[in-house]
Amino acid sequence: MELPVAFAGRVVCDLGPEEGAALCAALDGVPPVSVRLHPAKCGDAGALLRRLGACGRVPWCADGHYLTERPQFTFDPAFHAGAYYVQEAASQFVGRLVGDVAGRRVLDLCAAPGGKTTLYASLVGPEGLVVANEIDRRRASVLADNVRKWGTGNVAVTACEPKALGEFENWFDAVAVDAPCSGEGMFRKDPASRGEWSEGNVRLCAARQDAILREAWRALKPGGRLIYSTCTFNRDEDEGTLERMLAWAGDEVPPCPKPERSGASSAGRSGRSGPIGFSRTGPAARAFSPPWPASRRTSAAGCGALRPAERFSGRPTKGPWPNWAVGCGSLPPCVS
Ligand code: SAM
Repeated sequence: MELPVAFAGRVVCDLGPEEGAALCAALDGVPPVSVRLHPAKCGDAGALLRRLGACGRVPWCADGHYLTERPQFTFDPAFHAGAYYVQEAASQFVGRLVGDVAGRRVLDLCAAPGGKTTLYASLVGPEGLVVANEIDRRRASVLADNVRKWGTGNVAVTACEPKALGEFENWFDAVAVDAPCSGEGMFRKDPASRGEWSEGNVRLCAARQDAILREAWRALKPGGRLIYSTCTFNRDEDEGTLERMLAWAGDEVPPCPKPERSGASSAGRSGRSGPIGFSRTGPAARAFSPPWPASRRTSAAGCGALRPAERFSGRPTKGPWPNWAVGCGSLPPCVS
C-alpha cells in the first residue's frame, strides 16, 4: 500500500524534498529486528544470542540486541519463558530516559502489550513497583500475560481510565505515557497501518494525548519524571502535544539553561532531523534540554521527558533527581 498522500506531502514540506523523500523511502524498507534480554532469565546470554542470530548491541540499552533477521519466535521455548522480549530498539530508548528508578514507583499509563512495562519492571528491581495500566480490557489481558511471562513480581496491572490513576496525586516517581497515536512510525512495520491514517485521526490522537498527559502530570510526584513517547512523526502530536502541555504546566516546569547550538546535527528546514536517524524535537521539547555538551545532546522521535521542580513551592528539587528537565535524553558516548 502507498503512503498516504497527505502524509508524504507534509513530510516533504517539514523536512525538505531530499530528507522527506529519504524518510518515505525508508518507510518502504525492511524494519530491523531487535530483542531485549531478561537479565535474570536468559541464562547463557551468549549462547542465546548466537542462536537468535544477534549481530550487534543496541547502543542505549544494556540488554538490547539487533538480530540479522526475524526468527520464528513462536517456535522458541525461551521466548515463551520470557528469556527475552521482542522489542524495537527505539522503544528501548525509554529506559535511558527514565534514568535510575531502582526501588521507585513507576506508572506506565498506556501499557499494552507491555514491552516498555517489562523494561521498567527490570529497572525498578525487586524493591520497586510498576503500575501498568491499559484502558482496553482485551489488551489488558495480553499485557497481564506478558507481565506474568516476564515474572519479576513487581508489576500491578490495571485496566482503568487514566483519570482513575490521576487520583494517585503526586505518588509516582516516574510516569510514562506511551501515547495512543496516529502511528506513522508503524508504516514500515505494518503496511496496513497506512490505510488507517487520516488527518482527522491525527487531531483525535492529539486531543487524546493532551487529556492523558493531564492525568499523568497529576499522578507524578514533585521532582518526578514524565516520559511522553509516540510511534508517530506527526508534529501536531509530538512537539505540539508538549507545547500545549507547556501552556498549562509551564509554571511548574523549572526554567533551564538555554541549549547550546550544536554543530553536530544535520537539522533540516524544520530542525527535526538529527544525527544517526534520530529526530530533533521542536521548540517546546528543546526548551527542556539539559546542560549536556552539545555533541551529546540529541533526541528520539516523539519522545520527551521532563522533570517538574517542586510543584507547589517552586523550590528546586532535592535528592538524586536533577532539577532540570530533559528534552529527549542523551545518547551514550559510543553513538554521539
Ligand atoms: N507501551 C506499550 C508497549 O510498549 O508495549 C504500547 C502502548 S500503545 C502505543 C498505546 C496504548 O494506549 C494502547 O494499548 C491503547 O489501547 C491505549 N489507549 C488508547 N486510548 C487510550 C486512552 N484514552 N487512555 C489511555 N490509554 C489509551
